[in-house]
Amino acid sequence: MSSYPHLLEPLDLGHVVLPNRVIMGSMHTGLEDRLSDLPKLAAYFAERARGGVGLMVTGGYAPNRTGWLTPFGSTLTSRRQARKHRLLTDAVHAEGGRIALQILHAGRYSYHPFSVSASALKAPINPFKPRALSDRGVRQQIEAYVDCAALAREAGYDGVEIMGSEGYFINQFLAERTNKRTDRWGGSPENRRRLAVEIVRRTRERVGEDFLIIYRLSMADLVEGGQTWDDVVALGKEIEAAGASIINTGIGWHEARVPTIVTSVPRAAFTSVTAAFKPHVKIPVVTSNRINLPQVAEEVLARGDADLVSMARPFLADPEWVLKATTDRADEINVCIACNQACLDHVFAKKKASCMVNPRAVRETELQLLPTRRTKSIAVVGAGPAGLAAAVTAAERGHHVELFEADAEIGGQFGIAQQIPGKEEFAETIRYYRRRLELTGVKLHLGGRAGVDDLAGFDEIVLATGVVPRVPAIPGIDHPKVLSYVEVVREHKPVGDTVAVIGAGGVGVDVSEFLTTTSPDLAAWKAEWGVGDPTLLPGALAVPQPEPSLRKVYLLQRKAGKIGAGLGKTTGWVHRAALKNKQVEQLREVNYERIDDEGLHVTFGPKREKARVLAVDTVVVCAGQEPVRDLADALRATGRPVHLIGGADVAAELDAKRAIEQATRLALTL
Ligand code: NAP
Ligand code: SF4
Repeated sequence: MSSYPHLLEPLDLGHVVLPNRVIMGSMHTGLEDRLSDLPKLAAYFAERARGGVGLMVTGGYAPNRTGWLTPFGSTLTSRRQARKHRLLTDAVHAEGGRIALQILHAGRYSYHPFSVSASALKAPINPFKPRALSDRGVRQQIEAYVDCAALAREAGYDGVEIMGSEGYFINQFLAERTNKRTDRWGGSPENRRRLAVEIVRRTRERVGEDFLIIYRLSMADLVEGGQTWDDVVALGKEIEAAGASIINTGIGWHEARVPTIVTSVPRAAFTSVTAAFKPHVKIPVVTSNRINLPQVAEEVLARGDADLVSMARPFLADPEWVLKATTDRADEINVCIACNQACLDHVFAKKKASCMVNPRAVRETELQLLPTRRTKSIAVVGAGPAGLAAAVTAAERGHHVELFEADAEIGGQFGIAQQIPGKEEFAETIRYYRRRLELTGVKLHLGGRAGVDDLAGFDEIVLATGVVPRVPAIPGIDHPKVLSYVEVVREHKPVGDTVAVIGAGGVGVDVSEFLTTTSPDLAAWKAEWGVGDPTLLPGALAVPQPEPSLRKVYLLQRKAGKIGAGLGKTTGWVHRAALKNKQVEQLREVNYERIDDEGLHVTFGPKREKARVLAVDTVVVCAGQEPVRDLADALRATGRPVHLIGGADVAAELDAKRAIEQATRLALTL
């Protein structure tokens, strides 16, 4: 008896039977834009097909150039391109998989001056204003979708996903917010739906019955002027009648100010929306957003919220997600922690996506885990993310590895991150590594600092000794009211009601949230961000009602720029909004004059003006880190070569993504 009977139940779609209820959702990797990258993309999808996922969806391909997401972005518009895509579809089919191509027309989200939409209304997240299409122009776009689907079929795809959500082109016709037309493509809800329905109807006519059409339907726009529930339900029924095989859930436009996929969004937070929609259609319905573990997916399906689950990022983190669920090895899954650091943040920076916890993602042809030809004995010192990644990767290649950690637990900086409200997922990565250490037979030494003598006799020494908090030279820094972030977050030292946080990098922002917030349950989280009942409120948008802050917090930095400017593109705005919700007072261009019984004395600007005393009970220092290299220096003094990785190598702007990638790359060469 499987632990996940609903998840692993096959689904008969008539001409094709999916082996389970898991769809790998669309995710742009950056390999879609050039045909020359197709071999890499084929390797990426083939590895995931091998891992047993039921159906995969590619990143978005525009049906014409006006629909480009970015200039020269991915399109499927010619038979020549379709022939080249055979490489990808053949690779997937050879592994027994199925794959659909996503057709994505960006409309007013197109990042170029030739964009088009229902009306000439600029999106708040794009500098380019679109041109309103004429009636003929609209019909040409429909043709382009249909042609693109036909080409996808010619290319060997098993179907297409028509992207109708997230605020893209079709969604822009559906919502009053962006459709101000008065012709047959606007004015009434029926007219606004016409584009979506025509695209599906005409596509079905062209591609025949034995080809999947997934329609991604925006069930909660999460913007002002979004669709009503009546609109959503009517659209679903018409899309079904027009010939769609499956309806997938879309939640939130890109311009929405409600987080929908970051790590602080509770798991499966939006499946109730799909559950409300599902009874209105007969075709299978897919749910999505923040589902990352088989148990979570199983609960969603067992509750009857949906017929299938879609996950995108979890397949970057672990291509064998389904295989591990099928063989009851869920504890071996490398879980997506929804950090966005190496996937979406890369895509928005026009870099190739990867995964923080799996640097091999999207680099399958480059980073291959080949067995070693000469087994070595390797000592790794430090069991933070860098040391853990180095140890398990080297051991998996066949080396004998011993891992030394001074603390009583593994995890390093992730042990601190997991304590922050909304960052609990980081515990999953520690759990994953703990299990992988067991499976690969790494010998773990905990609770004792390794010295030069402990490391005698090893062929290779990898030092991932990490960092210590920086102690800034401020008069009074040794006052009893001063604590480091480690003392606050990990050691739970008492903190007063009024607090100044020195340093507004990632840790300062995290600590401010730690001091002001308790982890909300789903209802409290929805209230905080204004997520209402989609069946009652247009766009599912309610008035946000944040919980009051636990403390009065000042967050300070010396720089003039925006607080948290260095945070990720897709997560920084969520952190800044969370701080605003808790009325954290942000001070910039600060000079730290001294700390005494009165509090923290500050002035502002280069002329040290506007002297002010922040009468705080506690000062928490989050002023970055210094590398720990004593052992490296001692070993080098004895003439022994060492490999220095992670924060011990470069502490400035230390980040786990770089640490894990550096460690993995090193371990692949040892
Ligand atoms: P950080 O990003 O280097 O920020 C520390 C801040 O402290 C600096 O921005 C600096 O700002 C201030 N500072 C530095 N030296 C100081 C001094 N001598 N006196 C007073 N202030 C000083 O370090 P972090 O916040 O510890 O973060 C470490 C790494 O973890 C970063 O790469 C960060 O991105 C990553 N991280 C990321 C997240 C995330 O959500 N993505 C969360 C946590 C950590 P001023 O000079 O302007 O004062
Ligand atoms: Fe998930 Fe983070 Fe990896 Fe993206 S980088 S797939 S969010 S773990």
